[in-house]
Amino acid sequence: MEPGFHSEQAQLPRNMIENSMFEEEPDVVDLAKEPHLHPLEPDEVEYEPRSSRLLVRGLGEHDLEDDEEDYESSARLLGMSFMNRSSNHRNNLTGVYNRETSGGLCSLSSARTVLVGAFVVVIILSIAMVVYFLPKCTFTKEGCHKKNTTLTLIYPLATNGQVFPWPKNRLPNAVVPVHYDLSLHPNLTTMNFIGSVQITVLAKEDTNNITLHSFGLKITKATITPKASSQSKDVQILEYLQHQQIAIKVNPKLLKGETHILNLEYSANLSDGFSGFYKSSYQDKNKTRILAATQFEPASARSAFPCFDEPAFKATFSIKIIREADHISLSNMQKDSTTSIGNGLLQDTFVKSVKMSTYLVAFIVAELKSVSQETASGTLVSVYAVPDKMDQMRYALEAAVKLLKFYEDFFNISYPLKKLDLVAVPDFEAGAMENWGLITFREITLLYREETASILDKQIISVVIAHELAHQWFGNLVTMEWWNDLWLNEGFATFMEFFSLEKVFPELQVADRFLRTRLKAMEKDSMNSSHPLSTSVETAEQIEEIFDSISYEKGASILLMLKDFLGETVFQQGIERYLNEHKYGNTKTEDLWNSITKVKNVDLDVKEMMKTWTLQTGFPVVTVKLDTTANKIHLSQERFLRISISQDPSSSPDSSYLWHIPLTYITSNCSNYSQPKCIKTWLLKNKTGTIHLKEPNVTWVKFNMNMNGYYIVHYEGNTSKELLGLLQNNHLAFSDHDRAGFINNAFVLASAGKLSVRQALSMTKYMKNENSTAPITEALFQLGRIYWLVQKRGSLQLAGRIKKYIFDIFGDLINNQTWSNNGSLSERQLRSTLLDVACGYNHDNCVQIAQELFTEWKQTKNLSVLPSDLTTTIYSVGARDVKGWTFILQMYNSLQLETEKSKMLRAMAKSSNAQQLIWLMYESLQHGTIRTQELPSILATASRSLAGYLFAWDFVKENWDNLVKKFHLGSFPIQAIIVETTSQFSTKSHLFEVQTFFDSLTDKGSQLRAVQEALEIIQLNIQWMDKNLKNLKMWL
Ligand SMILES: [Zn+2]
Repeated sequence: MEPGFHSEQAQLPRNMIENSMFEEEPDVVDLAKEPHLHPLEPDEVEYEPRSSRLLVRGLGEHDLEDDEEDYESSARLLGMSFMNRSSNHRNNLTGVYNRETSGGLCSLSSARTVLVGAFVVVIILSIAMVVYFLPKCTFTKEGCHKKNTTLTLIYPLATNGQVFPWPKNRLPNAVVPVHYDLSLHPNLTTMNFIGSVQITVLAKEDTNNITLHSFGLKITKATITPKASSQSKDVQILEYLQHQQIAIKVNPKLLKGETHILNLEYSANLSDGFSGFYKSSYQDKNKTRILAATQFEPASARSAFPCFDEPAFKATFSIKIIREADHISLSNMQKDSTTSIGNGLLQDTFVKSVKMSTYLVAFIVAELKSVSQETASGTLVSVYAVPDKMDQMRYALEAAVKLLKFYEDFFNISYPLKKLDLVAVPDFEAGAMENWGLITFREITLLYREETASILDKQIISVVIAHELAHQWFGNLVTMEWWNDLWLNEGFATFMEFFSLEKVFPELQVADRFLRTRLKAMEKDSMNSSHPLSTSVETAEQIEEIFDSISYEKGASILLMLKDFLGETVFQQGIERYLNEHKYGNTKTEDLWNSITKVKNVDLDVKEMMKTWTLQTGFPVVTVKLDTTANKIHLSQERFLRISISQDPSSSPDSSYLWHIPLTYITSNCSNYSQPKCIKTWLLKNKTGTIHLKEPNVTWVKFNMNMNGYYIVHYEGNTSKELLGLLQNNHLAFSDHDRAGFINNAFVLASAGKLSVRQALSMTKYMKNENSTAPITEALFQLGRIYWLVQKRGSLQLAGRIKKYIFDIFGDLINNQTWSNNGSLSERQLRSTLLDVACGYNHDNCVQIAQELFTEWKQTKNLSVLPSDLTTTIYSVGARDVKGWTFILQMYNSLQLETEKSKMLRAMAKSSNAQQLIWLMYESLQHGTIRTQELPSILATASRSLAGYLFAWDFVKENWDNLVKKFHLGSFPIQAIIVETTSQFSTKSHLFEVQTFFDSLTDKGSQLRAVQEALEIIQLNIQWMDKNLKNLKMWL
């Protein structure tokens, strides 16, 4: 999946608080501390708070191995071993008790041990007595209000009051699905659907129950038939809503190795939101048209059909869809036949699918038009959109065909399906979704019209297509076993976005974009609220939350570092081997490292190195000190945290963190960064290290070439001065990404008190000579952030001085920009960034030209009079007065160009008119003329402006319940909304307000990692302002 908005993506969350159902109780044992010994084994990830807490409590909710252990640990911990047990489970428990007794007491021989044992028994008995005499109360999941039976401690009650036979979030493995025959009839008038599913299931052990997922479905009939017979039998269904599970009681029990067919008939409403089987609408010749589409990842297939909705339960699917004649239907596989079934209805039958996970199943019923092209290897690639947008599909088709060929060659594995559809869905929460053979997109990430879109629009569309196509192998063919390793899917697809585009469309110059991606990941990962790449998740909200910047962007960053270290050939061979070894199967992170290690010529234990990056939160800062006398480089590493140690000694980085860092560097003796022979590597595996230089008289060293490593560098002593001097005298001695890295690292180190803000700002002085996009973009980002904070603290005079400083440095460059689409992508990107910043800061010349162009457009209503790269800036200036704003809204409502509409919306959301802002937010929330999917972007834009940031936050507070109804709790849009609408606060009163608001929520909002991230950002802002406001005033 590709997350929502691209140009202004939020910094995403993660915190240390779990979504526990026991939130009212204090922690029993806080194992949430960071790891103490490194490197860790994969199975040691229990230091993550949620799993540790559950292991301690042992209430049978999560990770225990089997039923017996549930009972055992629950009983042990709650002192219930000696209490009455339900007769239904007596045998089971007696077994546990006997085992515990014989193993725990009778076998002990020494008197001391017997005494200790007796003491333990007395304690347990005492606890049991206390619990027993508690007044009609026991510790159920809901609290202390159920009848006191031990049964409810472990097995919950189903909706009908009977005991639900499975207590965990994760499904049992006793019965697994082999094949689904699924038939659906969505009615786009009544907005509901009827379905039936026959699931061929295989018993892996003897069992009386089949437990699977179902949510929001009204099951009207349930039967089971042994595969070997045609004798079907009605069965009872139990439902446990909290885990979105149903259980089918089977009597006599299913025996190991037997295959049965479970037949379920059901109905449900099409969802109002963006997940499950949901409805979407669009305007066509002033008529509202409805379509139905699916979005199942991560856990919403269960809302469309009862299923084993976990990635490891792979099966094949045969899908049939009933539709009206004026619609078409699409699914993962190609259509096999269409038959008329009366009443004007048609039934499409799709070919049986390959073996795949439920979250990749997809179907759409709509009036769509398409363009198609067959690839050289015989796959039919098609792009679909609503009829009015037929003229915007060509580029996507061309890009998809080229990228599909690239991936087939790179992975050396053919795309296994006969067709690949790419569909633009009018209402879509994420950016895109990689359903196998039926990729769905937001319209803006697929549809493109050359004459009116900007070069960046084209880049974004290409990036998203490249991402989703990579998933067809990495994710679809080989899938993570569980969501804790989501990064395997998303980190890899994000890495491949850039890797494939550099090869297939070099003119799109995605390298700068990838650099910003890495820097963004590090920004989030430098906070306490971050999390390890492989991280423990259980509940639906926890799974939603892991779709964040760490899984995507950090994942991609560490793969780039690994590829650079191994070399492209070995990396490719490792990936090919991994895909071949695990195709149609499921994997854990270590499987990837094992496959790469097995490639010939790899004399490195890849797993040993990479687990330091996947199991630990954060990244290292490497301190470099050159000893010119002894000709040595002294190195040391520690975790980098964006917090001032001097102000908060308790938060000093945990010294047990240790990474295996594949360092790259050049020295003054061989300093040509474009010469591979000059770039040296060194693996730092310990806390400190020393490189003995072979070449004499080295005066400076530069580490982390092109910022391709996921670490920052702090130079001590003369090296720092030498590098700064060189940067100022001959900045081209370093690559553009190295220059961007210098700027970034300086500001980041300043945020942790390792450099002064004055030193960081000094670094930008050389930039009067700078022409390259990456360092300029980075400097404008860092300076802009300071400007926004200062401005919102009311220090308008100081903000004015920051603005003046920016114009002093970049004024000439701004004035030299033409208002055109000329040049390479990088030059065009630089132009649009510079002019947007200039007009945003009210640069006279910029505003005047933008205003003139806006007036011309208003008079002609012809978009082609505007340079398409600069329309964002022109709309933003035009929207500053009421007439301009109203004109943009009119155009927004009449245009069919999503790329332009999105820019118009952002321009409108920059307004300083309260009435306009509030209207925009509510119109979008209510899905009026502005789609609800745009709301996170509107709020993010408004939050950055002085006029809008308080309104945006008020809006979130007032509409929280509605927001979490529209977007899932924990989902990417919710994460973005929380972080974006609070990240401009830098006062204690705002911190208190945000904290109080989230604490007051009755849903699980306060426990979201995004909330912890938001609070941490505000604290960091407060700290930064306290420390630096005075320095800034003196320096500027
Ligand atoms: Zn993805």
